[in-house]
Amino acid sequence: MMSGFQVTAMPTEIAQQVRATMRSPQYGHPAHDEKLSEAAPCRHCLRLIRAGERALLFTYDPFAGDARPLPGPVYIHSEPCERYRNSNEFPTELRGSPRTLMAYGNERRMIGETLVPANGDFDTALANFASNSDVRYVHVRSTTAGCFTFLSERARGRALDGSAECGNVL
Ligand SMILES: [Zn+2]
Repeated sequence: MMSGFQVTAMPTEIAQQVRATMRSPQYGHPAHDEKLSEAAPCRHCLRLIRAGERALLFTYDPFAGDARPLPGPVYIHSEPCERYRNSNEFPTELRGSPRTLMAYGNERRMIGETLVPANGDFDTALANFASNSDVRYVHVRSTTAGCFTFLSERARGRALDGSAECGNVL
């Protein structure tokens, strides 16, 4: 990825807490364990959870620690998985679905959004946002389901991994 934005997956602490407690670490709502009937992205390893594999569904606020909350449902693998490490690469397994890139400035102000089709040019879309100094980070979401998938932030920016909110319950 040449955009200057890096890929930041869900913090491992969040994934571990959900698996250990079967509740949303941020909200306390019960998590739901199910065998998927169709593939969905795991927000921790940023690979696909395949149809027939088990997934945990829970409430997650990707803005935690930075701005007003905007929680929504997310999936992770039910079994432990390794957090996504290739922070300079758009996750390969997630390129095959249409995604909405939503760019935010300070105080979660929405600066713009770009809809990228399946197997489209995600890198150029991110680079375009990176060239706008008002953009602090981009949230990548599923276009079809609307759910948050992962954070893309400036490589040298403050880490926005939400870990400061671990354990908080509204
Ligand atoms: Zn996973």
